[in-house]
Amino acid sequence: MTSLFDRFEAAFMPNYGVPPVALARGEGSVVWGIDGTEYLDMFGGIAVSSLGHAHPALVEAVSKQVATLAHTSNLLLHEREVELAEKLLSLLGAPGRVFLANSGTEANEAALKLAIKYGKTTGRSYFVAAEMGFHGRTLGALSLTGKPSIRDQFGPFPLDVRFVPYGDAEALADAVDGDCAAVFLEPTQGEAGVVPPPDGYMARAREITKAAGALLVADEIQSAIGRTGHWFAHQADGYLPDVLTLAKGLGGGLPIGACVGFGPAATVFEKGDHGSTFGGNPVSCAAALAVLGNVDLAHVQAVAAELRDGIEAISHPLLKGVRGRGLWLAAVLTEDRAAQVQAAAQRAGFLVNAVQPDAIRLAPPLVITSAQVRTFLAAFPPILDEAADG
Ligand SMILES: *Cc1c(COP(=O)(O)O)cnc(C)c1O
Repeated sequence: MTSLFDRFEAAFMPNYGVPPVALARGEGSVVWGIDGTEYLDMFGGIAVSSLGHAHPALVEAVSKQVATLAHTSNLLLHEREVELAEKLLSLLGAPGRVFLANSGTEANEAALKLAIKYGKTTGRSYFVAAEMGFHGRTLGALSLTGKPSIRDQFGPFPLDVRFVPYGDAEALADAVDGDCAAVFLEPTQGEAGVVPPPDGYMARAREITKAAGALLVADEIQSAIGRTGHWFAHQADGYLPDVLTLAKGLGGGLPIGACVGFGPAATVFEKGDHGSTFGGNPVSCAAALAVLGNVDLAHVQAVAAELRDGIEAISHPLLKGVRGRGLWLAAVLTEDRAAQVQAAAQRAGFLVNAVQPDAIRLAPPLVITSAQVRTFLAAFPPILDEAADG
């Protein structure tokens, strides 16, 4: 009998390779493979499954909505999208306007088109982004993405994008002048390995862009919706961007992205400038409303501290330390053995993500319990032992 893995390999383009586990179902922070194996989900589908799996509020909201009205297109409006935009603006606590898309890369495409238009109307021609940053795979977002391995073979790109080392405020100040239309930055670089900048970097980026008249676009696609213990990372960092992009955790597993503009950036797009047939569809909006109504920030902060302190307390020759914030951490290794750690964790019943050769990303569901965190912490040293030997 041909396995599901062989069928996957035969039917799909090879861009993902064949994943190591086939999942059948989940409940809370636990998932089960098609062979019945149980795993604790320690990376939440890349910081997406905010409420875990099969959360009753998400199930109810989505089921009810799909049975009532699944689609309108943007030629007609519906209640859920208005409720969602209002809810996002109220959590943001600043006047702004929202555009809804289906994914992270599309949220960034909207931000980029907005920035291009802003540049054209103000005589600004180039963009700045960070080395090793990740903003998505479609061509506009890819042109802002600083990771050479995923970018270079698809260039050259039609935009003038200048890359600066992430976290270096002086390099940023040097790169941004009166011809710069926008600076795109993650508040902590997710795909680069959950790499936070030095304290004060984003607030400094805010000052630099403001002084030069360039837009600051904060890509919070991975960092927002409670992931850091705050609704949005910029709220803890004490600044407001001109444009904010969201996706991943927002829909709790349903596809949705958002681009929010503040101040003058809120109304750069005029009628006809941008659109999406599926963007803001009622089912995804219902899911996002369920997420926003059920994330418990105090819980995130409590279990995040337990997870972080617990990893910090582990003394192991393969473990260098832990970085990141909230339930968005990387266990940093002393050697390039992240693939071995991921495999050993899987054998021990934990799904983690080897985000870099020397870094394990932990971004579990925001509903992970304290007991589940302790189970992982107890299992982690033997996992490291196995990865160091194997
Ligand atoms: C995941 C991610 C994206 C792209 O989102 P997709 O939904 O995969 O298109 C963009 N920016 C950041 C910071 C991300 O983490």
